[in-house]
Parts: sequence; C-alpha cells; structure tokens
Amino acid sequence: MRQKLSGWGRTAWSYSDVVTPSSSQDISAVIAAPQHRGVIARGLGRSYGAASQNAGGTVIEMANDEASPIALDPRTGVVTAGAGVSIDALLKYCVPRGWFVPVTPGTRFVTIGGAIGSDIHGKNHHVDGSFGAHVLSMRVMLSTTEIIELSPSIRPDWFWATIAGMGLTGIVIDATFQMLAISSSMMHVETERLQNFDALIAAMGSSSDDDGYRYSVAWVDLLASGSSLGRGVLSRGEHATRDQDSRSEPLVYNPKVRVSAPPWVPNGVINKLSIKAFNEAWYRKAPRRRTESIESIAGFFHPLDGVRQWNRLYGSQGFIQYQFIVPLDQTDVLRTVIGQFADAGVASFLAVLKRMGESNLAPMSFPTAGWTLTLDIAAGARGLPELLSAVDTVVLDAGGRHYLAKDAHVSPGAVRKGYDRFEEWKTIRNEMDPTGVWKSDLGRRLGLVDP
Ligand SMILES: Cc1cc2nc3c(=O)[nH]c(=O)nc-3n(C[C@H](O)[C@H](O)[C@H](O)COP(=O)(O)OP(=O)(O)OC[C@H]3O[C@@H](n4cnc5c(N)ncnc54)[C@H](O)[C@@H]3O)c2cc1C
Repeated sequence: MRQKLSGWGRTAWSYSDVVTPSSSQDISAVIAAPQHRGVIARGLGRSYGAASQNAGGTVIEMANDEASPIALDPRTGVVTAGAGVSIDALLKYCVPRGWFVPVTPGTRFVTIGGAIGSDIHGKNHHVDGSFGAHVLSMRVMLSTTEIIELSPSIRPDWFWATIAGMGLTGIVIDATFQMLAISSSMMHVETERLQNFDALIAAMGSSSDDDGYRYSVAWVDLLASGSSLGRGVLSRGEHATRDQDSRSEPLVYNPKVRVSAPPWVPNGVINKLSIKAFNEAWYRKAPRRRTESIESIAGFFHPLDGVRQWNRLYGSQGFIQYQFIVPLDQTDVLRTVIGQFADAGVASFLAVLKRMGESNLAPMSFPTAGWTLTLDIAAGARGLPELLSAVDTVVLDAGGRHYLAKDAHVSPGAVRKGYDRFEEWKTIRNEMDPTGVWKSDLGRRLGLVDP
C-alpha cells in the first residue's frame, strides 16, 4: 500500500509502497519482483531522518512482535529473536527471567533489525560497546533472496558491513545475541548537578570514577552561558542488587505509556522561552551533591516513552536531531560547539552528552572513543542550517563525525570525511548487493548507494 512516511523527526516525508510480510517467503517474493526504485527494511521508524523510507520504491515493514519469535536460553542468556521483535517485547519477556538487553537506546520502541542496522549505543557504551558487539550471529536475506548466516567468524567482512549498514547490505531476518544477567528490575542511580563545562567533563572523564558505573550520561543546558556554560546534570547507574531492592518479586517489569501527545500541535509550542524555563527548573531540581535513588528501568532508560508520539509536540514543522562525536582529547572543540549553540540562542529541549568507549570493527559504526553530543532542535529554528553547517566544519576538522541514524542534515562529503572506512564499506556493500536492490532516501541523499 502506498504510504506517506517520515522518520521520528517528521521532516522529510515521502511516499513508498509499504508491504508487511508474514514470512521470509513473503520478503523474498517482494525482492524477486523487479524494483525500479529499490527496497529498504523498516523497523519501528525511530531513526530521525529518512533511513527507513524509500520515495517511489518499496519499504518492507519488519516490526512485528506477535509474529517474531524470541528463544531465550535461561541458563546462558543467549537469545535468538526475529528482526521485527522490539526491545519493548524483548524486555517484557526477558526481564522477569533475569536477563536485560546488552544495549538499549533512549526508547524501547526499536526493533532488533533497527538496532543492528544503526549499531545503536546506550548509556553503557564506555563499558559494553554498541549493539553489534553483542551479536553472536545473524541470518540475512541478500538481494538474491538467499538467506545466509553471518557472524564475527563466518564472512566477518559482510557481518561487520551489515552492523551499522543502515539496511543497505540486506535484510536481517533474525539475530542471536548475549543478554546481561540482572537480579532486579530496578536501577540504582546516582545524580548530581555540575555547575559548568569543566566540572562536567572532569566528572565524566576517563580519569574520574566514571568507568566504575555501567551507565553514565549527562543532560546539558545549552542555553546557559558565561561562567555557567555547559552546566548539566549527570546521572549514573547500575542494575540494583537484591540488597538494594526490597520487593518480594524483584524481577517484576511493567512499563507504562502514560499519555499521548495530541494529534495536532501548533508550531512553536517548544520554543526558546519554554525551553529556558524547563532547563532552569530541571537544573535546579537536580541535587547539588551526588544523591542516590532507586528508579525503574523505564524511568532510567526510557523516560520519553511515557508520552506516546511525543515527536508531535514540535508541530508540523518537525525537528532535527543532531548528533556528533569528537575524539576524547578534543574537549576544547566540544566547548566551542556548546558555545556556538549558546551564542546562537538556538534552544534544545534535549541535549545529552556521553563519553563513548572504543569503536568496534564495523566500518560505518558511529561510536568511537570520544564525546558525543545529541540535540533536538525545532526544524524551523531561525538560522539553523547555517549554524549546523558551521558546527559540521568544526566537528569534522577535529576528526569527528555524525550519527546517520539521527541525520537529516549532513552532506555526502561530511560522511566521507567523518567515516574514514566509508569506501571500504561501500565496496563490500556493492559486493553484497551487485544489482543495487537496497535503496533508501537517506542512502540516495548521502550517496551511500550508487544512483
Ligand atoms: C526517543 C529516541 C531515543 C533514541 N536514543 C538512541 C540512543 O540512545 N542511541 C542510539 O544509538 N539510537 C537512539 N535512537 C535511534 C534509534 O535507536 C535508531 O534509529 C534505531 O535504528 C531505530 O530502530 P527502528 O526499529 O525504529 O528502525 P528504523 O528507524 O525503522 O530503521 C533504522 C535503520 O535500520 C534498518 N533496518 C531496520 N530493520 C532492518 C532489518 N530487519 N534488516 C536490516 N536493516 C534494518 C533500516 O533500513 C534503517 O536504515 C533513539 C531514537 C528515539 C526516537
């Protein structure tokens, strides 16, 4: 069925023929039919730009919790799940059995296929790496419709090209990966506020005690300036132990979606004034000194999921999520960029800073040892394209790059400069897809696939 699709940012809409397969035979039937404008897999559409849409072509909607099986070995925590399974469904199945996903993004509404396609990272990247590091094997349908097994030891070049391959090497059918043992569904969390950029970096740096926490992330007030530039709230945690969780059933897991955003919101509700008021309140609410608390998994990892379709709050103009990384020793560049946003007065409701660990072997994987900053900005903000282009230059000159799962802005040149193994990846991609079946709007815009 022809459908109008966009990413989570609701900016670049396009029409695709959307098919919902109920088996791998259905998928191969779609691929086998001639596809002038190509085919791309779509999970739950949580990438912000146009990664899982295909103007004038076909989109295979993989998300399907009911039809996609989950097989967990309760002794080892090794799980095999269909690519259409969401992290939401996986957590509901595995947490009561004492197992947690190795990596979760800031929403539980992503599929395993999407987690692999973007090689997602979480608050634990500095300790555990990204999702691809935990994948033991996967079955992938190639553009010939053949289904092959890939792993770090079986066709490793194809395996790593598919991790963070943005769906452009093949369709993941299912994957086997290692879960993390937990004894409670609660989190032990420490929160503190840091008065400026230097204090924040000192608290999160590798020479601090940050490596002692599995999860660590900071919210940054991008409107603060002067001596408060870069002030933030640092939140770090670990899965609670049985001693820290006094409930009689410590593995009960029951996340709730509390409200829905209204279907129509005027542009400009999220604006500089409302964000400034929010930032001030959020910063003041955080404890001055490190304070311990016990929080739910949903509260700690997925607070935004409490509001269904919160992306509508930006109105019909939508919003850009801009995420970049710069090497660890480039803290001055990070300060410069935060200053660029503060000076421009471009307000971001959500600005998140995270220190990442080492990269994995995937040529297009985003995380690498460094600092990543993520911002949400209303798409209509005045001067935004000029500001982001100026920031792009600073980031790329410092040896940084941008996260394609979030992207709706960068140029093809920025991808080539940021990802120094891009040509290597493209050669492998072309080998895996010699007839050029896999295509997406993002792939076309950034030249990830040949025209
Ligand atoms: C609120 C929010 C918070 C987020 N936080 C984070 C975060 O902390 N860290 C992070 O890394 N990301 C984060 N993201 C981004 C998100 O995790 C990724 O974009 C993820 O890929 C989305 O998965 P999806 O199932 O929605 O896939 P889609 O967005 O539909 O697709 C993403 C990519 O995966 C490909 N793909 C999907 N299924 C398959 C398949 N079966 N086989 C092959 N390729 C496939 C698509 O072609 C596309 O290129 C966040 C997104 C939101 C909305």
